[in-house]
Amino acid sequence: MSDSEKWGVSTKLVHAGEWRPRVLGAVSMPIFQTANWVEDGDASDYHSVHYMRLSNLPNHTVLAEKMAALEGAEAALVTASGMAAISAALLSVLKAGDHILVQDELYGGTHSFVANDLPRWGIEVDFIDGENPSSWEGKLRPNTRAIYFESITNPRLRVANLDAVVPFAQAHDLVSMIDNTMATPLYFKPAEWGFDLSLHSATKYLNGHSDIVGGVVIGKADLVTQVHHKLDHLGGSMDTHTCSLLHRGVRTLALRLPAQTKTAQALAQMFQDHPRVTRVYYPGLESSAGHDNAKRLLAGYSAMVSIDIDGGKEAAKRFVERSQLITDAPSFGGLETLATRPAASSHAGLTPAERAERGIADGLVRLSVGIEDTADLLADFTQALD
Ligand code: PLP
Repeated sequence: MSDSEKWGVSTKLVHAGEWRPRVLGAVSMPIFQTANWVEDGDASDYHSVHYMRLSNLPNHTVLAEKMAALEGAEAALVTASGMAAISAALLSVLKAGDHILVQDELYGGTHSFVANDLPRWGIEVDFIDGENPSSWEGKLRPNTRAIYFESITNPRLRVANLDAVVPFAQAHDLVSMIDNTMATPLYFKPAEWGFDLSLHSATKYLNGHSDIVGGVVIGKADLVTQVHHKLDHLGGSMDTHTCSLLHRGVRTLALRLPAQTKTAQALAQMFQDHPRVTRVYYPGLESSAGHDNAKRLLAGYSAMVSIDIDGGKEAAKRFVERSQLITDAPSFGGLETLATRPAASSHAGLTPAERAERGIADGLVRLSVGIEDTADLLADFTQALD
C-alpha cells in the first residue's frame, strides 16, 4: 500500500491526485483553458487524442485521481452532470435486449430515465424493494445484466440492505451500480463493499457551493474506461472552469459535511417532537425506516431531512415562507439551507400515482441542511412551524 492510500480522508481531499511538482510552481491547479493540445505523436486511438470533450486534460485527470482515491477505487471520471454520469454508465453497461433491476425509490431524473428512456431502446427494467433482499431473486430474468441502488434514497432518505447487493450481483453475474451522491465518500465507500460502479452528482456535497453542475463515475478500471469511451461519444464532458470550481469545493468536504450532519440530527430530533410534524425521515433517527441499515453501513447519516407537515401542501408552503433562513430551491448539498417539495421539483417527472406508490406526499418537504449555526436554524424552524 502506498503512503497516499493510507492517508485519512481529509488528507486525500487536499493532496490525492495533485501534481508533483506543481504546474510551473502554482500552488493551485491552473485552469487549462484549451480545447485541444499539440499532438506529440503518442495518441494510440481516438480516445487518447488530447481534447476537452474526451475528458483527458489535466483539470479532468487530477480530479479523477482524487475521486478514485477518496473511495479507494481503481479509477474515476468526471462528467458534465450527475445525469451525464448516470446515463453514460447505464448506456455503457446495458444494450438492447438486456434487463436491469433498479431500486424502487430513486432520484426523479434517474427514475424517468430508467422507466421511460431505457425501454424505448429495448432495455427492460424491473423495480425492487431495496430493504427486502429475499424478493430480488424473483425478479431475475435470463437477460438480467445489472442492479442499481442509491446509498441514501431521495426524497425519503431510506437506506437499503446495501451489504446484500454485491453478494447477490456476484452470484448472478450482474454489474453492481450505486448512486452515492447523498452519502458521499465520507460516509460510504462503494468500492470497499465490492460495488463495480459508484455514481455521483458532484453538483451536491462534493462541490458544496451550489454554483456548478457536475458528475463523477468511480469504480473498477475496465468499467470506468468503458463509461469514459461512451461519454466521449455522448459528449457529456466537464468544462475545465467547472473542474476548477469542483476541485476547490471538494477539498473542504470533510469540514462541511460533518458540521451539516450534526445540525441535521438536531433538527430531525426537534421535528420528531413537534406537534405540527406528522412524520420525519432521517436515517439517523431510530424511528426512521432504514435506520438499522444506516447504522450498520454508513459512517454518518448525512444532512438531508424530510418532513410531512400537518396540513399538507398548503401548510408546507407556509412553513417555507415563514422561515427566514430557508431558501426555497431544488437541489441540495450547498452551504445554505434549502427546502423543496419533491412533488413539485425533483420528483415532478413522476406521475401522481407513481409518487403516491412511493409515499411522496404533496406536502413532503425535503430540507438540505447548510452550515448555518445549529441554534439559529432550530429557532427559525420552530417559529415557522409554530
Ligand atoms: N443523483 C441524485 C441522488 C440526485 O439527487 C441528482 C440531482 O438532484 C442527480 C443524481 C442528478 O444530478 P445532476 O443534477 O448533477 O445531473
